[in-house]
Amino acid sequence: MIIKPDKPKCHCGIFGIFGSQHASLQTYYGLHALQHRGQEAAGIVSKSFSAKGNSVFNIHKGVGLVTEVFEDKSIFHSLLPGRSAIGHNRYSTTGASKSRKNIQPFVVNYRMGNLAVSHNGNLTNAKQLREELVNDGAIFQTTSDTEVILHLIARSKLTNQIDQIKEALSKVEGAYSLVILTDDKLIATRDPFGFRPLALGKLHNAFVFASETCSFDLISASFIREVDPGELVVINDSTLSNGFPESYKINNLKFPQKHCIFEFIYFSRPDSFIFGHNVDKMRRRLGKVLARKHPVSDRDGEKVIVISVPDSSNTMALGYQTELEKLNINSKLEIGLIRSHYIGRTFILPGQEKREMGVRIKFNTVKGVLQGRTVVLIDDSIVRGTTSKQLVKLIREANPKEIHLRISSPPITHPCYYGMDFPSKEELIANRFNVDINSIKNYLEVDSLEYLTIDEMLEAVSEANAENFCTACFSGKYPSKIDPTLTKEMYEI
Ligand code: SF4
Repeated sequence: MIIKPDKPKCHCGIFGIFGSQHASLQTYYGLHALQHRGQEAAGIVSKSFSAKGNSVFNIHKGVGLVTEVFEDKSIFHSLLPGRSAIGHNRYSTTGASKSRKNIQPFVVNYRMGNLAVSHNGNLTNAKQLREELVNDGAIFQTTSDTEVILHLIARSKLTNQIDQIKEALSKVEGAYSLVILTDDKLIATRDPFGFRPLALGKLHNAFVFASETCSFDLISASFIREVDPGELVVINDSTLSNGFPESYKINNLKFPQKHCIFEFIYFSRPDSFIFGHNVDKMRRRLGKVLARKHPVSDRDGEKVIVISVPDSSNTMALGYQTELEKLNINSKLEIGLIRSHYIGRTFILPGQEKREMGVRIKFNTVKGVLQGRTVVLIDDSIVRGTTSKQLVKLIREANPKEIHLRISSPPITHPCYYGMDFPSKEELIANRFNVDINSIKNYLEVDSLEYLTIDEMLEAVSEANAENFCTACFSGKYPSKIDPTLTKEMYEI
C-alpha cells in the first residue's frame, strides 16, 4: 500500500539567475528552498561558451529530490558551468507525466538560437493549441503543456525574440509563471491573472527570479519586487551594467488579478513573501478569523488545548489561540502531534496494511498534553478526509475530553485547472457528503467541525484585497474560460 499525503499538490517551483559566477550552484540552493513545490523531479540548465565562443546550453535533470538529482556536487563545475542558469522542481501524478522527457527545464534550438524554459502553472487551452500545432506539422517531444509555448515562440514570424515570446503568450490561457533562458538574456513572466507567484531579487551584481522569496534567503539574495501579472522582466548584460531590468507587457489587454488563495492557505512557505504579503501573516489572520467565527471553550471552564496538524497548520494554530485569548477564552497552544520527517515522499507499506498504519507512521500524539483536555485541532484544509479521520482516531486514544476540528479554509468542492492537483471531484470529502458539515463531522467522529466560509476566508486576507484572489476550488467560479461540463482530465494533453 502506498501512503501519499492527503493534501493538494502544486505542480512546480522555478528559479533563474543571470550574471553569477556560481549560477548552477545557486540554482541548486534555490531549488532546494522550493522543494515543497515539487518533489518528483528536478533539473537545471546553465549557459556557457564553447572554445569557439559559441553559446552552449548544459543540462542535468532527473527523477527525485533536488539533493538526489544533484548528489554529485562536482556536477556544478563540470557539467553545468556558466554565469546564468534556470531550474525547475516538478511534481507529477500520472505515469506519463513522470516520464523523463517531461522533466523541465525544456531546451530547444530554433532560428534565434537556444532557449530553455521552466514553467509553474497549467495552461487551460493547451490541448486545443497542441491539436492546431500538430495539424500544422509540429512534432511534439513531450506531453507537457509547456512545450506548446516553445512551439508558438519558434513558429512566430516576428523577428525580435521578445516580440516572439509576447506573441506566443498572448495565445495561451491559464496559469503560468515562467523563467526563460536565451543565448543573451534571462526573462521572467507571469500570466495576466497572476495565479502563481514569481519574485525578482538581486545577489551582488547578479539578478535572480524564484517562485518564492524563501529561495532568496537561502542564497542571501535581496528581494527587489514581484514580477507583475502580465509583465515580462528581461535581464541581459546591459542590466548588469546599469542595474535596471527591462520591463514589457505581454499585451495591452486588462485582466483582473486572481492570485491563488491556496498559496496562502497551504502551498507557499510561511517564510515567503508573495502577492504583496508575508505568508506567515496571512496564515495567522486565517487562524484569527477562524477563532472569532468558530471559538471553542471548555464546558467546565478549564484550559482549551489548541494543537495543529504539523507543519502546514502551525501558523494558523498560533493565530487561532492568540485570538481565543483576546476573546477571554482560557486556552493554551500546545504541541500535541509529532510528525516524523523521515518517511520520504511516498511511503510504501509492506503488504496491504491498513491506511491507519500510514498515519501512525507519520504522526504520533503527546499523550500528556491531550489527556482529559478539550482539544481544538487546527488544519488548513480537508481534501479526502482519510488522514483527518485517522488523526482523530489517534488523538482519541490519548483520552481527551472532546475533540473540535477547525479548518482554516472552506470545503473544497471543485478541481483546480491552474496548476494545483486535487483528487477527483467524487473523492473530495465535501462532495461525498454534499457539503453537509454535520455529516462530515459524524464521519470524522469529532465533537464539532467548522470550516471558514468563502467570505470569512476573504475577510482574513482582506488587507490583500479580497477581489484579487481566485477561490474557484471552493466556489466553482473560475476566473478564466473553463467548461465545467468537462473533467479536468479532458483539459490535459
Ligand atoms: Fe488556487 Fe483553488 Fe484557484 Fe486553483 S482553483 S488557482 S487551487 S484558488
